[in-house]
Amino acid sequence: MTDILYSLNEHERNCPEQIAIKHNEDTITYRQLNQYANTLAEVIKDAQSPLIVYGHMSPFMIVGMIASIKAGCGYVPIDTSIPEERIHSIIGKIQPSFILNTTEAQMEFNNCEVLDTSVFNRDSLITEFESQMKGDDIAYTIFTSGSTGEPKGVQIRYESLNEFTEWMVSLNQLGDHQQWLNQAPFSFDLSVMSIYPCLATAGTLHLVDKTMINKPKLLNQMLEEAKINVWVSTPSFMEMCLMLPNLAEASYGNLKEFFFCGEILAHRTAKMLLQRFPSAYIYNTYGPTEATVAVTSIQITEDVLAQYNPLPIGLPRPGTTLSLADKDELVIAGKCVSEGYVKDEVRSQAVFKTDKQQKHYYTGDKAVFENDQWFITGRIDFQVKLNGYRMELEEIEFQMRQVDIVKEAIVVPVYKDNKVTQLQGVVVLNNPLDIDDEQSVIHDIKQALKQVMPEYMIPRKIIFKSQFPLTANGKLDRKQIAEDVLA
Ligand code: AMP
Repeated sequence: MTDILYSLNEHERNCPEQIAIKHNEDTITYRQLNQYANTLAEVIKDAQSPLIVYGHMSPFMIVGMIASIKAGCGYVPIDTSIPEERIHSIIGKIQPSFILNTTEAQMEFNNCEVLDTSVFNRDSLITEFESQMKGDDIAYTIFTSGSTGEPKGVQIRYESLNEFTEWMVSLNQLGDHQQWLNQAPFSFDLSVMSIYPCLATAGTLHLVDKTMINKPKLLNQMLEEAKINVWVSTPSFMEMCLMLPNLAEASYGNLKEFFFCGEILAHRTAKMLLQRFPSAYIYNTYGPTEATVAVTSIQITEDVLAQYNPLPIGLPRPGTTLSLADKDELVIAGKCVSEGYVKDEVRSQAVFKTDKQQKHYYTGDKAVFENDQWFITGRIDFQVKLNGYRMELEEIEFQMRQVDIVKEAIVVPVYKDNKVTQLQGVVVLNNPLDIDDEQSVIHDIKQALKQVMPEYMIPRKIIFKSQFPLTANGKLDRKQIAEDVLA
């Protein structure tokens, strides 16, 4: 069985000077990764709550993760895109003893020590640290959107992380010492799909930051220089990159393997990619954060493209079983299933059940098993994915209703080819809107939302109604509201 910490000790012995993590000019070798992590683990070894690792794409974020696993407390990653109020809500829930701040920004919280990267500026780093992490300890907790307005902290055990890593390593056809690309911010569990399989196989992890994502020229430059072999991203990110005309086998001969997860992989995206990289291995994988990143996979070949449209999500990984509950809801069972939401009995009990000593997670995804393959066909609730980001429409609506001028709010997702392309907020105000004020009211609502939600959750367009239609039993008629907006 894979053990990430064991692998890192081996790599320190076998390839100490190999670069483990790279972001622009910042690099960390396998020796540094292990020794920095030992040094931090020694500082936090008595912590009773997870380490918060705060920052964007600093290699020290990963040092913090490994250190927290060694120390036995695990970590909670927080990206700089998370607004302050949300950070406070996460910190309030976790009550951390330590925060590793990898940015230049000042941070201060009550009852908690904020460490910065000067903790690693020592003449002598610690060379040995005996891991305190056990299989059923929580390795990480990732917060995801919650319909009541409060994010949910999904707790993943170390053995689930190891099992996931082992499966990913078995899918990887290229072997050890590859150059891996990580696109997702660390607050999203898609990043787990590149971090641990890369580190377990002594690869080099290249971190894509938000500046590169916004400037295709920088991204192109990074991709060319890094000579990436293994690509891990959302399909949306790939769609954006396919606009780079030279992203094809002729210019990127090293790029041989692609892993996608987090949202629908559109048939046309996969087809275009296979045309550009005919000899590459392309995988569509599926899974929720609550079941350790991904639980199914299928390699997309010419045959698969010819046989299926839309594409299936494939078959479950070893140790995991899938079944259907009421309304064709997909249920995942196995060691991959999370320990539950942190300090949240009510929401945990609603979706995590134990049956015959096996943990089950009720995903909210609608699915069907057909032609020997699993397919996702929709949701039984109001969760959506926009550019790979998961969000509950009800959370956005809750936050919109908190804005004092707003009486009622509904968020309508706009779809193209089965994928959400943008969100539109439909609002009834407390006082009738003076038409001259429309732009400034929209601005005020968006500003208020920015304080409490990441930018990607804020509806692009906001429109006003004088009242909402109701259904026969008196509820807001979402369907009618959406139809009116999209008409
Ligand atoms: P997250 O917890 O952010 O990873 O989001 C999990 C949700 O993303 C799943 O419950 C699905 O709704 C959706 N999802 C993830 N992967 C896929 C996929 N390959 N195809 C379709 N939907 C997916």
